[in-house]
Amino acid sequence: MKWSLNLGRVAGIKILVHWTFLILIGWIVFSEMQRGSDLAATLLSVAFVVTIFLCVVLHELGHALTAKRYGVSTKMITLLPIGGVASLERIPENPKQELMIAIAGPAVNVVIALALWLILPPLRELPDEAFFSRITPANFLYLLFFVNMMLVLFNAIPAFPMDGGRVLRALLAFKLGRVRATQIAANMGQMLAIFFMFIGFFYNPFLILIGIFVFFGAWSENMVVQHLDFLRGHLVREGMMTNFVTL
Ligand code: ZN
Repeated sequence: MKWSLNLGRVAGIKILVHWTFLILIGWIVFSEMQRGSDLAATLLSVAFVVTIFLCVVLHELGHALTAKRYGVSTKMITLLPIGGVASLERIPENPKQELMIAIAGPAVNVVIALALWLILPPLRELPDEAFFSRITPANFLYLLFFVNMMLVLFNAIPAFPMDGGRVLRALLAFKLGRVRATQIAANMGQMLAIFFMFIGFFYNPFLILIGIFVFFGAWSENMVVQHLDFLRGHLVREGMMTNFVTL
């Protein structure tokens, strides 16, 4: 991806930050200034976002290092304002391998959340809106716990491009084959996307955005797999033709 800042390598995988990430940091600083926050509060907010993205990198490394075990290398992990992307050189077609790779990402966030849950003293009461409204040294780690839980829940949505979509496809592929499984998973994802957009229209515009994201994620995944299958069929046919001619 162009215009990315290279942070270095972890286990041979390049970690890149896309320039649009700076817009996110700028937006945080701007909104803190508008609230009249002092420098310490602003820095804490920035530190919080950076920590979230550290969790995202660990999530992506979960995918990448599991893929490596199956002989699939990862060129880079790119951080975007909306999350991270691990660029695997290919997605294994073996459903068990895809399942393990897909689960490994959210599993990292489960481990982080579990570790925080173990070290943090339990909250005396359920957090209210004020608890979430600003980051303080007292609630920093609690909020980090919630964010990791959200990452797990979000990726549990069984639709592409979320990890849950890949888990669903892999599970279906055990019985139905990859092409049919992708079709079903993509259709389910698109129905879910339309449902999100419908709900978002009435309650929260952010859901419309997620809906669009999911809709096109499902569509493109289906296109890629159907197209690959078509190509494969094509090659088989070409091969048969060649044989025929040789005969
Ligand atoms: Zn993931």
